[in-house]
Amino acid sequence: MKLLKLSQLPFFILILFFFMPYNVFGAGITDIRFWSAPDHTRVVLDLTESIQYESSSQETPPQCIIDLTGITSFPKKKDLEVRDKYLQRISLIDLGKNKARLVLHQKVPLQANIFTLKPDLGKTHRLVIDLIDLGEERREQEERQRQKETRARGTKIVVIDPGHGGEDPGAVGPGKTMEKDVVLRVGQKMISLLNQQQEVKAFLTRKGDYFIPLEQRVRIAREYGADLFISLHADGSFNPQARGASVYCLSLSGASDQAAKLLADKENMSNILGGAFLRPAALSRDPNLNQILLDLMQNNSMKESFRFAELVLETLREVHSLKFSSYRQANFIVLRAPDIPSVLIEMAYITNREDERLLKQTEFQEKMARNLTQAILQFFK
Ligand SMILES: [Zn+2]
Repeated sequence: MKLLKLSQLPFFILILFFFMPYNVFGAGITDIRFWSAPDHTRVVLDLTESIQYESSSQETPPQCIIDLTGITSFPKKKDLEVRDKYLQRISLIDLGKNKARLVLHQKVPLQANIFTLKPDLGKTHRLVIDLIDLGEERREQEERQRQKETRARGTKIVVIDPGHGGEDPGAVGPGKTMEKDVVLRVGQKMISLLNQQQEVKAFLTRKGDYFIPLEQRVRIAREYGADLFISLHADGSFNPQARGASVYCLSLSGASDQAAKLLADKENMSNILGGAFLRPAALSRDPNLNQILLDLMQNNSMKESFRFAELVLETLREVHSLKFSSYRQANFIVLRAPDIPSVLIEMAYITNREDERLLKQTEFQEKMARNLTQAILQFFK
């Protein structure tokens, strides 16, 4: 074997560095963020590398403590006031020797779910801590079921689902407008318009800036016993010229075209971007439905979805130009409720300057909400 020449040494060291796992040198914490939901608060640490952690909880005072090893740098702000329903403060303490402690000062005892997320579509390594109020989670679920059971005869229940939220901004416009914000605004306007109707009761899946996994959005609609489910989105494209509105239904076989398939793949990515962590309890709540019955229901609800999609296209063309004059189909997770007619609407292209301007405009949002409400009322006639 030939010995390594001295002149080759720098090159050899370079190779060695290249193959060494990066976190041998430790990880930097670049930011601490949080999201407040009605039944939990999510804390996210942005990291340059994956890290090792150990967690513990205490009841008095209620705290979640996470010890981190191999930390090489800290963010500018190590102490954060939260003051939401569940958290008082977040503090990150430098313990020296590349060790750090994250303390979440809670207002009440909460269940902590801690997991890491790998880099994805422009996001870095992350450590996610969900502090969940299990009691509130159950109360919200019971409230939805109560709405279902106590509904007056002839009352129709509509569930509006503003896409994305929290960690997942959805598509982002050239002026930094986020899909998650505009869809929430239109959704809220729709709810208030719909609830002015005596024979309709409308609810949102997401009421603020936090993330809900796609499957959970479907489950929320089923708990309400929804007669109609509408998922609101704004499209994004690498082509800044692309603009217009489009309407989508579920496809059980394959997508109607390649563009619809790509869109469904992108929207389904929301679970990864948003950091979906499905709790075992949440999963086991889904009743085991008879497959034949399920297929039958799905057939009928799909026909109803198509009928609704046609009505939406009719009223949508008064608000904005249509990208496609007919509805498209693909396998969107959020449209998979077997017993509820479900439609996904891309209101405009947020990546187009003119469409982005429209999406931000109150007038456009109101017109969109009004016309979609019209389509809903017509559907129930
Ligand atoms: Zn979307």
